[in-house]
Amino acid sequence: MLVLGIESSCDETGVALYRSCADGGGTLLAHALHSQVAMHEAYGGVVPELASRDHIRRISPLLRKALDDSGCALAEIGAVAYTQGPGLAGALLVGAAFAEALAAALGVPTVPLHHLEGHLLSPLLSRTPPRFPFVALLVSGGHTQLMRVDGVGRYSLLGETLDDAAGEAFDKTAKLLGLGYPGGPALAALAVEGRADVFKLPRPMLHSGDFDFSFSGLKTAVLTRVRELGGAVALSEQQRADLAHAFQAAIVEVLVKKSAAALRAAGLRQLVVAGGVGANRELRRQLDERAARGRFAVFYPEFEFCTDNGAMIALAGALRLQAGSEAKVAGSFAVRPRWPLADLLLSERPA
Ligand code: ATP
Ligand code: MG
Ligand code: FE
Repeated sequence: MLVLGIESSCDETGVALYRSCADGGGTLLAHALHSQVAMHEAYGGVVPELASRDHIRRISPLLRKALDDSGCALAEIGAVAYTQGPGLAGALLVGAAFAEALAAALGVPTVPLHHLEGHLLSPLLSRTPPRFPFVALLVSGGHTQLMRVDGVGRYSLLGETLDDAAGEAFDKTAKLLGLGYPGGPALAALAVEGRADVFKLPRPMLHSGDFDFSFSGLKTAVLTRVRELGGAVALSEQQRADLAHAFQAAIVEVLVKKSAAALRAAGLRQLVVAGGVGANRELRRQLDERAARGRFAVFYPEFEFCTDNGAMIALAGALRLQAGSEAKVAGSFAVRPRWPLADLLLSERPA
């Protein structure tokens, strides 16, 4: 079956076509993406109303491009998967309305999805995918979770952040250092120029004995150092780089050690990293090093599938359908801007 996937929860419009096979496999045929990062840059963050309007402008041409690239016709689409939430209400509405209207016109069902399920399953798009069961470290702009994944729709929470998400911590710290938006990649680039052990920062909750995280104190620790040095404008380029290095080292160490501990506790040997922070090279380097010592394997989505994209939504929709779940009659819909992850979890679902 040909599944169309649509992502519009924040500032990326993503459209993709995934062909699933009866044997459970499948192929990503095409994916088209437009990032609004440049548009929001001037405002230092995502402006919701601008985001919605831009999704409207982009979504139809992106579908055209995905169809052209794949050589498929509109009429071949057998189901339309889209992000129902969580995210910006107006942005979600664009993708949901487009998906439901198109599916109704084609006479095919829809698959409304939780955005995080897309991130969670995105490593299955790689050339060398993991096999169930695995532990997933989900590190995005809005989430930081360690989950056990036993199959499609079979997720259990092992631990999560009690305050800021990892990506949020990167972005807020980058802002403190006077870097642009979005700050994560900029901070990571600057950290390369920084020296180790110039600034000592805490490793929050490293020894808490559970798999939870807390990153807001780390950001505050950076703020304190910046103030001691006379404020962001007074910092030398080297000091900013050293602070970026210290911040990244602290957050990466906590993520790596907790992930390894979660794997051990779960008795599993495969770790999957998903979400935008999964693009961080230092995180990947240290995870790979730890994996070699701990004899476990780490799987990453391709860089382009780390941040928001339509491919992960098309895949998640196809897998959901293969697993026999909930295709919906196209037409009426509601978006879920706030959609607790708990709704996705095994223990919260009826057996
Ligand atoms: P969510 O999926 O939780 O709703 P989101 O969609 O905004 O949040 P993603 O698109 O998965 O999150 O990831 C974006 C985040 O990843 C941003 O916080 C960004 O700073 C961070 N990020 C991207 N690349 C890097 C990098 N190389 N190093 C650190 N952080 C990064
Ligand atoms: Mg984004
Ligand atoms: Fe996301």
